[in-house]
Amino acid sequence: MTQTGTSAGSETPAAGAEFTSLDPRTGEVVGSYPVHGAAQVNEAVARAARAAQWWAGLGFAGRRKRLRAWRKLLVKRIDRIAEVVTSETGKPADDARLELVLAVDHLAWAARNAQRVLGRRKVSAGVLMSNQSATLAYPPFGVVGVIGPWNYPVFTPMGSIAYALAAGNAVVFKPSEFTPGVGHALADTFAEALAGEGVGDASGAAGPDAAVAASGAGGAGGAGGASGASGADHPVLQVVTGFGETGAALCRSGVGKLAFTGSTATGRRVMAACAENLTPVLIECGGKDPLIVDADADLDAAADAAVWGGMSNAGQTCVGVERVYVVEPVADEFLRRVVTRAHALRPGGEPTADFGPMTMPAQVDVVAGQLRDALDKGAHALVGGTASVRPPYIEPVVLTDVPEDSTAITQETFGPLLTVNRVADTEEAITRANATAYGLGASVFSAKRGEEIAARLRCGMVAVNGVITFAGVPALPFGGVGDSGFGRIHGEDGLREFARAQAVTRQRFAPPIALMTFSRGARAMSRVMALVRALYGR
Ligand code: NDP
Repeated sequence: MTQTGTSAGSETPAAGAEFTSLDPRTGEVVGSYPVHGAAQVNEAVARAARAAQWWAGLGFAGRRKRLRAWRKLLVKRIDRIAEVVTSETGKPADDARLELVLAVDHLAWAARNAQRVLGRRKVSAGVLMSNQSATLAYPPFGVVGVIGPWNYPVFTPMGSIAYALAAGNAVVFKPSEFTPGVGHALADTFAEALAGEGVGDASGAAGPDAAVAASGAGGAGGAGGASGASGADHPVLQVVTGFGETGAALCRSGVGKLAFTGSTATGRRVMAACAENLTPVLIECGGKDPLIVDADADLDAAADAAVWGGMSNAGQTCVGVERVYVVEPVADEFLRRVVTRAHALRPGGEPTADFGPMTMPAQVDVVAGQLRDALDKGAHALVGGTASVRPPYIEPVVLTDVPEDSTAITQETFGPLLTVNRVADTEEAITRANATAYGLGASVFSAKRGEEIAARLRCGMVAVNGVITFAGVPALPFGGVGDSGFGRIHGEDGLREFARAQAVTRQRFAPPIALMTFSRGARAMSRVMALVRALYGR
Protein backbone atom coordinates (compact mmCIF):
# COMPACT_ATOMS: atom_id res chain seq x y z
CA MET A 1 0.00 0.00 0.00
CA THR A 2 1.28 3.43 -0.78
CA GLN A 3 0.09 6.40 1.16
CA THR A 4 0.61 9.77 -0.43
CA GLY A 5 1.33 12.61 1.89
CA THR A 6 2.62 12.79 5.41
CA SER A 7 0.61 12.99 8.57
CA ALA A 8 -0.46 16.46 7.52
CA GLY A 9 -4.15 15.90 7.81
CA SER A 10 -4.13 12.37 6.42
CA GLU A 11 -4.44 9.20 8.45
CA THR A 12 -1.18 7.72 9.63
CA PRO A 13 -0.23 4.81 7.37
CA ALA A 14 0.45 1.46 9.01
CA ALA A 15 3.75 -0.41 9.17
CA GLY A 16 4.67 -1.81 5.79
CA ALA A 17 3.07 1.09 3.94
CA GLU A 18 4.94 3.94 2.35
CA PHE A 19 4.69 7.62 3.07
CA THR A 20 5.92 10.64 1.22
CA SER A 21 7.73 13.72 2.36
CA LEU A 22 6.45 16.93 0.83
CA ASP A 23 7.94 20.30 -0.02
CA PRO A 24 6.02 22.59 2.35
CA ARG A 25 6.34 25.49 -0.11
CA THR A 26 4.52 23.71 -2.91
CA GLY A 27 3.08 20.48 -1.57
CA GLU A 28 5.12 18.59 -4.16
CA VAL A 29 6.35 15.12 -3.30
CA VAL A 30 10.06 15.08 -2.43
CA GLY A 31 10.52 11.39 -1.66
CA SER A 32 8.86 8.16 -0.64
CA TYR A 33 9.86 6.09 2.39
CA PRO A 34 8.75 2.93 4.16
CA VAL A 35 6.85 3.00 7.44
CA HIS A 36 8.98 0.76 9.62
CA GLY A 37 7.15 -1.29 12.20
CA ALA A 38 8.42 -2.75 15.46
CA ALA A 39 9.86 -5.86 13.75
CA GLN A 40 11.98 -3.81 11.36
CA VAL A 41 13.08 -1.44 14.08
CA ASN A 42 14.15 -4.37 16.25
CA GLU A 43 16.07 -5.87 13.31
CA ALA A 44 17.86 -2.57 12.75
CA VAL A 45 18.78 -2.38 16.43
CA ALA A 46 20.07 -5.97 16.39
CA ARG A 47 22.24 -5.14 13.34
CA ALA A 48 23.41 -2.01 15.10
CA ALA A 49 24.36 -4.00 18.19
CA ARG A 50 26.76 -6.09 16.10
CA ALA A 51 28.11 -3.01 14.33
CA ALA A 52 28.61 -1.38 17.73
CA GLN A 53 31.06 -4.11 18.71
CA TRP A 54 33.17 -3.35 15.66
CA TRP A 55 32.87 0.41 16.05
CA ALA A 56 33.83 0.36 19.74
CA GLY A 57 36.67 -2.00 18.92
CA LEU A 58 38.23 0.59 16.63
CA GLY A 59 39.12 2.68 19.67
CA PHE A 60 39.16 6.44 19.78
CA ALA A 61 41.83 6.85 17.10
CA GLY A 62 40.10 4.51 14.65
CA ARG A 63 36.79 6.26 15.10
CA ARG A 64 38.36 9.71 14.91
CA LYS A 65 39.83 8.83 11.52
CA ARG A 66 36.47 7.67 10.20
CA LEU A 67 34.53 10.57 11.67
CA ARG A 68 37.05 12.90 10.03
CA ALA A 69 36.32 11.22 6.69
CA TRP A 70 32.60 11.74 7.27
CA ARG A 71 33.19 15.37 8.19
CA LYS A 72 35.12 15.93 4.97
CA LEU A 73 32.41 14.28 2.90
CA LEU A 74 29.68 16.36 4.56
CA VAL A 75 31.59 19.52 3.68
CA LYS A 76 32.07 18.31 0.10
CA ARG A 77 28.33 17.57 -0.18
CA ILE A 78 27.14 20.58 1.76
CA ASP A 79 25.20 22.14 -1.11
CA ARG A 80 23.55 18.88 -2.10
CA ILE A 81 22.45 18.04 1.46
CA ALA A 82 21.31 21.62 2.01
CA GLU A 83 19.05 21.18 -1.03
CA VAL A 84 17.41 18.19 0.64
CA VAL A 85 16.96 20.23 3.83
CA THR A 86 15.39 23.07 1.85
CA SER A 87 13.10 20.78 -0.10
CA GLU A 88 11.75 19.09 3.05
CA THR A 89 11.58 22.11 5.38
CA GLY A 90 11.21 25.01 2.93
CA LYS A 91 13.96 27.02 4.65
CA PRO A 92 16.24 29.24 2.52
CA ALA A 93 19.39 27.64 1.12
CA ASP A 94 21.81 29.64 3.27
CA ASP A 95 19.95 28.74 6.46
CA ALA A 96 20.21 25.08 5.46
CA ARG A 97 23.93 25.50 4.76
CA LEU A 98 24.45 27.21 8.12
CA GLU A 99 22.88 24.21 9.86
CA LEU A 100 25.39 21.95 8.18
CA VAL A 101 28.30 24.24 8.99
CA LEU A 102 27.44 24.17 12.69
CA ALA A 103 26.85 20.41 12.66
CA VAL A 104 30.22 19.79 11.03
CA ASP A 105 31.93 21.94 13.65
CA HIS A 106 30.32 19.85 16.42
CA LEU A 107 31.28 16.62 14.67
CA ALA A 108 34.90 17.76 14.48
CA TRP A 109 34.92 18.71 18.18
CA ALA A 110 33.31 15.47 19.32
CA ALA A 111 35.76 13.34 17.34
CA ARG A 112 38.75 15.36 18.52
CA ASN A 113 37.84 15.40 22.21
CA ALA A 114 36.26 11.99 22.81
CA GLN A 115 39.43 10.31 24.02
CA ARG A 116 40.38 13.15 26.39
CA VAL A 117 36.90 13.22 27.94
CA LEU A 118 35.97 9.54 27.90
CA GLY A 119 39.26 7.65 27.87
CA ARG A 120 40.45 5.88 31.01
CA ARG A 121 42.19 8.20 33.43
CA LYS A 122 43.64 8.00 36.92
CA VAL A 123 41.92 9.67 39.83
CA SER A 124 43.11 10.08 43.41
CA ALA A 125 42.25 7.05 45.53
CA GLY A 126 42.00 9.16 48.69
CA VAL A 127 43.44 8.59 52.14
CA LEU A 128 41.43 5.55 53.23
CA MET A 129 42.15 3.65 50.00
CA SER A 130 45.68 4.93 49.41
CA ASN A 131 46.89 1.42 48.60
CA GLN A 132 44.63 1.39 45.52
CA SER A 133 45.15 2.70 42.03
CA ALA A 134 41.82 4.23 40.92
CA THR A 135 40.82 4.76 37.31
CA LEU A 136 37.70 5.98 35.56
CA ALA A 137 36.57 5.42 31.98
CA TYR A 138 33.40 6.01 29.99
CA PRO A 139 32.66 3.06 27.69
CA PRO A 140 29.75 3.36 25.25
CA PHE A 141 26.24 1.98 25.76
CA GLY A 142 26.31 -0.08 22.57
CA VAL A 143 23.36 1.17 20.53
CA VAL A 144 21.86 4.62 20.94
CA GLY A 145 18.43 5.41 19.50
CA VAL A 146 18.03 8.99 18.26
CA ILE A 147 14.63 10.54 17.57
CA GLY A 148 14.76 13.94 15.93
CA PRO A 149 12.52 16.85 14.95
CA TRP A 150 12.09 18.54 11.57
CA ASN A 151 12.97 22.16 12.36
CA TYR A 152 16.76 21.71 12.21
CA PRO A 153 16.86 18.23 10.72
CA VAL A 154 20.68 18.20 10.48
CA PHE A 155 21.92 20.31 13.37
CA THR A 156 19.59 19.01 16.06
CA PRO A 157 19.93 15.23 15.63
CA MET A 158 23.65 15.60 14.93
CA GLY A 159 23.99 16.97 18.46
CA SER A 160 23.18 13.44 19.55
CA ILE A 161 24.44 11.38 16.60
CA ALA A 162 27.93 12.90 16.35
CA TYR A 163 28.56 12.69 20.08
CA ALA A 164 27.11 9.18 20.41
CA LEU A 165 29.28 7.93 17.54
CA ALA A 166 32.41 9.61 18.89
CA ALA A 167 31.74 7.93 22.24
CA GLY A 168 31.77 4.55 20.47
CA ASN A 169 28.08 3.74 20.01
CA ALA A 170 26.23 2.64 16.92
CA VAL A 171 23.13 4.75 16.22
CA VAL A 172 19.66 3.99 14.94
CA PHE A 173 18.11 7.28 13.90
CA LYS A 174 14.39 7.95 13.47
CA PRO A 175 14.05 11.34 11.72
CA SER A 176 10.81 13.29 11.76
CA GLU A 177 8.18 12.14 9.29
CA PHE A 178 8.63 15.56 7.64
CA THR A 179 12.37 15.13 7.02
CA PRO A 180 13.15 11.47 6.26
CA GLY A 181 15.24 12.43 3.22
CA VAL A 182 17.59 14.46 5.42
CA GLY A 183 17.98 11.48 7.76
CA HIS A 184 18.95 9.30 4.81
CA ALA A 185 21.39 11.91 3.50
CA LEU A 186 23.22 11.80 6.83
CA ALA A 187 23.33 8.00 7.04
CA ASP A 188 24.28 7.59 3.38
CA THR A 189 27.23 9.97 3.62
CA PHE A 190 28.38 8.24 6.81
CA ALA A 191 28.26 4.82 5.11
CA GLU A 192 30.11 6.22 2.10
CA ALA A 193 32.81 7.71 4.32
CA LEU A 194 33.15 4.45 6.21
CA ALA A 195 33.42 2.44 3.01
CA GLY A 196 36.12 4.75 1.69
CA GLU A 197 38.20 4.95 4.85
CA GLY A 198 37.77 1.68 6.64
CA VAL A 199 38.47 -1.03 4.02
CA GLY A 200 40.81 -3.66 5.38
CA ASP A 201 41.63 -1.46 8.32
CA ALA A 202 39.68 -3.05 11.07
CA SER A 203 41.75 -2.87 14.17
CA GLY A 204 40.14 -5.64 16.12
CA ALA A 205 38.77 -5.39 19.59
CA ALA A 206 41.93 -4.07 21.14
CA GLY A 207 40.90 -0.43 21.43
CA PRO A 208 40.69 1.31 24.76
CA ASP A 209 36.95 0.84 24.96
CA ALA A 210 36.69 -2.56 23.36
CA ALA A 211 34.54 -3.95 26.17
CA VAL A 212 31.40 -2.40 24.77
CA ALA A 213 28.32 -2.90 26.84
CA ALA A 214 25.64 -5.11 25.41
CA SER A 215 22.87 -2.74 24.41
CA GLY A 216 20.30 -5.25 25.45
CA ALA A 217 19.26 -5.49 21.83
CA GLY A 218 19.41 -9.21 21.41
CA GLY A 219 22.53 -9.33 23.54
CA ALA A 220 24.79 -7.54 21.07
CA GLY A 221 26.23 -10.85 20.05
CA GLY A 222 27.21 -11.79 16.55
CA ALA A 223 30.10 -10.34 14.63
CA GLY A 224 32.06 -9.01 17.58
CA GLY A 225 35.47 -7.55 16.87
CA ALA A 226 36.49 -6.55 13.41
CA SER A 227 38.32 -9.47 11.88
CA GLY A 228 39.15 -7.99 8.52
CA ALA A 229 35.72 -6.60 7.67
CA SER A 230 35.50 -3.23 5.98
CA GLY A 231 33.57 -0.27 7.32
CA ALA A 232 30.98 -0.80 4.61
CA ASP A 233 29.95 -4.08 6.25
CA HIS A 234 29.00 -2.42 9.51
CA PRO A 235 25.76 -0.45 9.75
CA VAL A 236 27.02 1.88 12.45
CA LEU A 237 24.49 4.60 11.57
CA GLN A 238 21.10 3.42 10.34
CA VAL A 239 17.86 5.25 9.66
CA VAL A 240 14.38 3.94 10.35
CA THR A 241 11.46 5.92 8.96
CA GLY A 242 7.83 6.36 9.78
CA PHE A 243 5.62 8.17 12.27
CA GLY A 244 5.21 8.26 16.02
CA GLU A 245 4.69 4.48 16.16
CA THR A 246 8.13 3.92 14.64
CA GLY A 247 9.65 6.19 17.26
CA ALA A 248 7.75 4.39 19.98
CA ALA A 249 9.09 1.06 18.68
CA LEU A 250 12.62 2.44 18.90
CA CYS A 251 11.94 3.40 22.53
CA ARG A 252 10.90 -0.18 23.28
CA SER A 253 13.63 -1.87 21.20
CA GLY A 254 16.10 -2.29 24.05
CA VAL A 255 18.62 0.31 22.87
CA GLY A 256 21.22 1.24 25.46
CA LYS A 257 20.01 4.83 25.56
CA LEU A 258 17.38 6.90 23.77
CA ALA A 259 18.10 10.52 22.81
CA PHE A 260 14.90 12.39 22.02
CA THR A 261 14.49 15.90 20.64
CA GLY A 262 10.99 17.18 20.06
CA SER A 263 7.98 18.55 21.86
CA THR A 264 7.42 18.24 25.60
CA ALA A 265 4.22 16.23 25.08
CA THR A 266 6.02 13.62 22.97
CA GLY A 267 8.97 13.68 25.38
CA ARG A 268 6.66 12.46 28.14
CA ARG A 269 5.43 9.59 25.92
CA VAL A 270 9.03 8.69 25.04
CA MET A 271 9.98 8.55 28.72
CA ALA A 272 7.00 6.35 29.52
CA ALA A 273 7.86 3.91 26.72
CA CYS A 274 11.55 3.83 27.70
CA ALA A 275 10.62 3.22 31.33
CA GLU A 276 9.29 -0.22 30.37
CA ASN A 277 12.88 -1.47 29.82
CA LEU A 278 14.51 1.02 32.18
CA THR A 279 16.18 2.51 29.09
CA PRO A 280 17.91 5.77 30.05
CA VAL A 281 16.76 8.84 28.16
CA LEU A 282 18.06 12.21 27.08
CA ILE A 283 15.13 14.58 26.64
CA GLU A 284 15.56 17.82 24.64
CA CYS A 285 12.19 19.54 24.40
CA GLY A 286 10.72 22.90 23.54
CA GLY A 287 11.27 26.32 25.02
CA LYS A 288 9.78 29.75 25.56
CA ASP A 289 13.02 31.66 25.55
CA PRO A 290 13.11 35.21 26.91
CA LEU A 291 15.34 38.10 25.84
CA ILE A 292 15.96 40.80 28.43
CA VAL A 293 16.90 44.34 27.41
CA ASP A 294 18.54 46.38 30.17
CA ALA A 295 18.66 50.20 30.25
CA ASP A 296 22.32 50.36 29.19
CA ALA A 297 21.94 47.83 26.33
CA ASP A 298 23.10 48.43 22.77
CA LEU A 299 19.56 48.84 21.42
CA ASP A 300 20.47 48.25 17.78
CA ALA A 301 22.16 44.98 18.62
CA ALA A 302 19.33 43.95 20.95
CA ALA A 303 16.64 44.71 18.34
CA ASP A 304 18.58 42.86 15.66
CA ALA A 305 18.95 39.83 17.96
CA ALA A 306 15.29 39.90 19.01
CA VAL A 307 14.05 39.98 15.41
CA TRP A 308 16.50 37.40 14.06
CA GLY A 309 16.12 35.19 17.13
CA GLY A 310 12.34 35.38 16.89
CA MET A 311 11.75 35.25 13.14
CA SER A 312 14.58 33.28 11.52
CA ASN A 313 13.56 29.80 10.40
CA ALA A 314 9.99 31.20 10.62
CA GLY A 315 10.32 31.14 14.39
CA GLN A 316 10.60 27.35 14.35
CA THR A 317 13.60 27.26 16.65
CA CYS A 318 13.62 25.57 20.03
CA VAL A 319 15.95 28.29 21.35
CA GLY A 320 14.26 31.05 19.34
CA VAL A 321 13.30 34.28 21.08
CA GLU A 322 9.59 34.22 21.95
CA ARG A 323 9.31 36.73 24.80
CA VAL A 324 11.15 40.04 25.05
CA TYR A 325 11.18 42.02 28.30
CA VAL A 326 12.50 45.55 27.87
CA VAL A 327 12.96 48.00 30.74
CA GLU A 328 10.70 51.03 30.56
CA PRO A 329 13.32 53.79 30.06
CA VAL A 330 14.47 52.33 26.71
CA ALA A 331 11.25 50.57 25.67
CA ASP A 332 10.06 53.12 23.07
CA GLU A 333 13.45 53.34 21.38
CA PHE A 334 13.87 49.57 21.38
CA LEU A 335 10.39 48.94 19.99
CA ARG A 336 10.96 51.46 17.21
CA ARG A 337 14.05 49.53 16.12
CA VAL A 338 12.29 46.15 16.36
CA VAL A 339 9.35 47.37 14.29
CA THR A 340 11.58 48.80 11.54
CA ARG A 341 13.50 45.54 11.25
CA ALA A 342 10.47 43.24 11.40
CA HIS A 343 8.62 45.30 8.76
CA ALA A 344 11.48 44.73 6.34
CA LEU A 345 11.31 40.93 6.50
CA ARG A 346 9.64 38.82 3.81
CA PRO A 347 8.92 35.13 4.04
CA GLY A 348 8.94 33.13 0.84
CA GLY A 349 10.04 30.05 -1.01
CA GLU A 350 12.87 31.63 -2.99
CA PRO A 351 16.51 31.34 -1.87
CA THR A 352 16.72 35.04 -1.03
CA ALA A 353 13.65 35.04 1.23
CA ASP A 354 14.30 36.01 4.84
CA PHE A 355 12.60 32.87 6.05
CA GLY A 356 10.53 30.06 4.64
CA PRO A 357 7.12 28.55 5.25
CA MET A 358 5.77 26.80 8.30
CA THR A 359 7.18 23.32 7.79
CA MET A 360 4.44 21.53 9.68
CA PRO A 361 1.01 22.62 8.40
CA ALA A 362 -0.69 22.04 11.78
CA GLN A 363 1.58 24.61 13.41
CA VAL A 364 -0.08 27.42 11.44
CA ASP A 365 -3.24 26.95 13.51
CA VAL A 366 -1.28 26.99 16.76
CA VAL A 367 0.33 30.33 15.88
CA ALA A 368 -2.95 31.80 14.62
CA GLY A 369 -4.74 30.67 17.80
CA GLN A 370 -2.13 32.28 20.06
CA LEU A 371 -2.28 35.48 18.03
CA ARG A 372 -6.07 35.66 18.34
CA ASP A 373 -5.95 34.86 22.05
CA ALA A 374 -3.40 37.64 22.71
CA LEU A 375 -5.33 40.24 20.68
CA ASP A 376 -8.60 39.24 22.37
CA LYS A 377 -6.97 39.72 25.76
CA GLY A 378 -5.76 43.23 24.89
CA ALA A 379 -2.35 42.88 23.22
CA HIS A 380 -1.43 45.46 20.55
CA ALA A 381 -0.04 44.43 17.18
CA LEU A 382 2.86 46.69 16.15
CA VAL A 383 3.74 44.61 13.10
CA GLY A 384 1.26 42.38 11.27
CA GLY A 385 -1.88 40.86 12.71
CA THR A 386 -4.34 38.10 11.92
CA ALA A 387 -3.98 38.83 8.19
CA SER A 388 -0.30 37.89 8.46
CA VAL A 389 -1.26 34.23 8.52
CA ARG A 390 -1.18 33.12 4.86
CA PRO A 391 -0.47 29.38 4.87
CA PRO A 392 2.05 28.00 4.32
CA TYR A 393 3.63 31.34 5.22
CA ILE A 394 3.22 33.56 8.23
CA GLU A 395 4.51 37.10 7.93
CA PRO A 396 6.28 38.70 10.89
CA VAL A 397 4.08 39.63 13.82
CA VAL A 398 5.24 41.80 16.73
CA LEU A 399 2.90 42.17 19.69
CA THR A 400 3.27 44.39 22.73
CA ASP A 401 1.36 44.76 26.01
CA VAL A 402 0.69 41.04 25.83
CA PRO A 403 -1.10 39.80 28.98
CA GLU A 404 1.14 37.36 30.80
CA ASP A 405 -1.67 34.79 30.94
CA SER A 406 -2.17 34.69 27.18
CA THR A 407 -1.00 31.58 25.37
CA ALA A 408 1.51 33.62 23.33
CA ILE A 409 3.36 34.06 26.64
CA THR A 410 2.65 30.75 28.37
CA GLN A 411 2.99 28.22 25.52
CA GLU A 412 5.62 27.54 22.88
CA THR A 413 4.63 29.43 19.72
CA PHE A 414 7.07 28.05 17.13
CA GLY A 415 6.21 30.73 14.59
CA PRO A 416 7.37 34.24 13.58
CA LEU A 417 5.43 35.92 16.38
CA LEU A 418 7.43 38.01 18.82
CA THR A 419 6.00 39.39 22.07
CA VAL A 420 7.65 42.48 23.54
CA ASN A 421 6.51 43.57 27.00
CA ARG A 422 7.68 46.53 29.05
CA VAL A 423 8.93 45.98 32.59
CA ALA A 424 9.81 48.46 35.31
CA ASP A 425 13.33 47.15 35.84
CA THR A 426 15.56 44.11 35.39
CA GLU A 427 14.21 42.57 38.61
CA GLU A 428 10.78 42.36 37.03
CA ALA A 429 12.32 41.14 33.78
CA ILE A 430 14.06 38.27 35.59
CA THR A 431 10.90 37.34 37.50
CA ARG A 432 8.83 37.23 34.31
CA ALA A 433 11.53 35.46 32.33
CA ASN A 434 11.58 32.70 34.96
CA ALA A 435 7.79 32.47 35.24
CA THR A 436 7.43 29.58 32.81
CA ALA A 437 7.52 25.82 33.07
CA TYR A 438 10.10 25.80 30.25
CA GLY A 439 13.76 26.56 30.81
CA LEU A 440 15.80 26.08 27.64
CA GLY A 441 17.77 29.20 26.61
CA ALA A 442 17.73 32.96 27.15
CA SER A 443 19.41 36.19 26.00
CA VAL A 444 20.41 39.25 27.95
CA PHE A 445 21.41 42.60 26.48
CA SER A 446 23.20 44.72 29.04
CA ALA A 447 26.48 46.63 28.93
CA LYS A 448 27.39 46.06 32.56
CA ARG A 449 25.16 43.43 34.19
CA GLY A 450 24.84 40.70 31.54
CA GLU A 451 26.50 37.86 33.41
CA GLU A 452 24.91 38.84 36.71
CA ILE A 453 21.43 38.70 35.17
CA ALA A 454 22.30 35.47 33.30
CA ALA A 455 23.20 33.74 36.56
CA ARG A 456 19.68 34.35 37.89
CA LEU A 457 17.84 32.84 34.94
CA ARG A 458 16.38 29.36 35.32
CA CYS A 459 17.50 27.78 32.07
CA GLY A 460 20.26 25.73 30.48
CA MET A 461 21.98 28.34 28.29
CA VAL A 462 22.25 32.13 28.17
CA ALA A 463 23.67 34.38 25.45
CA VAL A 464 24.84 37.75 26.77
CA ASN A 465 24.75 40.50 24.14
CA GLY A 466 23.97 37.89 21.53
CA VAL A 467 21.36 35.30 20.66
CA ILE A 468 21.63 31.50 20.27
CA THR A 469 25.43 31.87 20.22
CA PHE A 470 25.85 29.08 22.80
CA ALA A 471 24.58 26.53 20.26
CA GLY A 472 27.59 27.26 18.04
CA VAL A 473 30.20 26.66 20.75
CA PRO A 474 30.92 22.92 20.61
CA ALA A 475 32.58 22.91 24.04
CA LEU A 476 29.40 24.15 25.73
CA PRO A 477 26.63 21.77 26.82
CA PHE A 478 23.15 22.32 25.36
CA GLY A 479 19.92 21.38 27.11
CA GLY A 480 17.22 22.61 29.42
CA VAL A 481 15.43 22.30 32.70
CA GLY A 482 11.75 21.77 33.61
CA ASP A 483 9.46 21.23 30.62
CA SER A 484 12.45 21.78 28.32
CA GLY A 485 13.83 18.41 29.36
CA PHE A 486 17.05 17.17 30.89
CA GLY A 487 20.42 15.79 29.93
CA ARG A 488 22.86 17.54 27.64
CA ILE A 489 24.07 17.32 24.06
CA HIS A 490 27.32 19.06 22.97
CA GLY A 491 30.55 19.53 24.86
CA GLU A 492 32.06 17.25 27.46
CA ASP A 493 28.66 16.67 29.10
CA GLY A 494 27.30 15.73 25.68
CA LEU A 495 29.99 13.09 25.22
CA ARG A 496 29.45 11.66 28.71
CA GLU A 497 25.71 11.55 28.02
CA PHE A 498 26.40 8.73 25.54
CA ALA A 499 28.66 6.68 27.79
CA ARG A 500 28.44 5.04 31.20
CA ALA A 501 30.96 5.74 33.90
CA GLN A 502 33.00 2.69 34.82
CA ALA A 503 35.14 2.84 37.95
CA VAL A 504 38.05 0.44 38.51
CA THR A 505 40.28 0.09 41.57
CA ARG A 506 43.45 -2.05 41.53
CA GLN A 507 45.31 -2.93 44.69
CA ARG A 508 48.91 -1.71 44.53
CA PHE A 509 50.05 -3.07 47.90
CA ALA A 510 48.48 -4.61 51.01
CA PRO A 511 46.44 -2.07 52.98
CA PRO A 512 48.11 -0.61 56.08
CA ILE A 513 44.73 -0.87 57.84
CA ALA A 514 42.64 -3.70 56.38
CA LEU A 515 39.02 -2.57 56.59
CA MET A 516 37.15 -4.67 54.06
CA THR A 517 37.64 -8.10 55.55
CA PHE A 518 36.07 -10.22 58.30
CA SER A 519 39.51 -10.34 59.94
CA ARG A 520 39.43 -6.57 60.44
CA GLY A 521 39.76 -6.63 64.25
CA ALA A 522 39.17 -3.95 66.88
CA ARG A 523 42.66 -2.47 66.50
CA ALA A 524 42.13 -1.65 62.81
CA MET A 525 38.84 0.00 63.65
CA SER A 526 40.29 2.15 66.45
CA ARG A 527 43.14 3.23 64.13
CA VAL A 528 40.74 4.23 61.38
CA MET A 529 38.51 6.08 63.88
CA ALA A 530 41.56 8.02 65.10
CA LEU A 531 42.46 8.83 61.51
CA VAL A 532 38.94 10.03 60.63
CA ARG A 533 38.71 12.16 63.79
CA ALA A 534 42.05 13.78 62.94
CA LEU A 535 41.10 14.36 59.32
CA TYR A 536 37.43 15.34 59.45
CA GLY A 537 36.38 15.71 63.07
CA ARG A 538 37.75 19.17 63.70
P1 NDP B 1 7.40 16.05 18.00
O1 NDP B 1 7.45 15.87 19.46
O2 NDP B 1 6.09 16.08 17.33
O3 NDP B 1 8.24 14.90 17.28
C1 NDP B 1 9.59 14.66 17.56
C2 NDP B 1 9.98 13.29 17.07
O4 NDP B 1 9.32 12.31 17.88
C3 NDP B 1 9.55 13.00 15.64
O5 NDP B 1 10.53 12.23 15.00
C4 NDP B 1 8.28 12.22 15.84
O6 NDP B 1 7.95 11.41 14.76
C5 NDP B 1 8.63 11.38 17.04
N1 NDP B 1 7.49 10.84 17.76
C6 NDP B 1 6.19 11.24 17.73
N2 NDP B 1 5.44 10.49 18.58
C7 NDP B 1 6.28 9.61 19.16
C8 NDP B 1 6.12 8.58 20.14
N3 NDP B 1 4.93 8.30 20.70
N4 NDP B 1 7.21 7.88 20.52
C9 NDP B 1 8.42 8.16 20.00
N5 NDP B 1 8.64 9.12 19.06
C10 NDP B 1 7.59 9.83 18.65
O7 NDP B 1 8.23 17.38 17.70
P2 NDP B 1 8.44 18.11 16.32
O8 NDP B 1 9.05 17.17 15.33
O9 NDP B 1 7.18 18.81 15.97
O10 NDP B 1 9.58 19.16 16.71
C11 NDP B 1 9.29 20.39 17.26
C12 NDP B 1 9.56 20.39 18.74
O11 NDP B 1 10.93 20.03 18.97
C13 NDP B 1 9.40 21.75 19.37
O12 NDP B 1 8.72 21.65 20.59
C14 NDP B 1 10.82 22.21 19.59
O13 NDP B 1 10.96 23.16 20.60
C15 NDP B 1 11.51 20.93 19.90
N6 NDP B 1 12.94 21.03 19.67
C16 NDP B 1 13.77 21.00 20.76
C17 NDP B 1 15.13 21.15 20.58
C18 NDP B 1 16.06 21.07 21.75
O14 NDP B 1 17.25 20.85 21.51
N7 NDP B 1 15.63 21.22 22.97
C19 NDP B 1 15.71 21.37 19.25
C20 NDP B 1 14.76 21.37 18.20
C21 NDP B 1 13.41 21.21 18.42
P3 NDP B 1 6.95 11.97 13.63
O15 NDP B 1 7.49 13.29 13.17
O16 NDP B 1 7.04 10.94 12.60
O17 NDP B 1 5.61 12.10 14.29
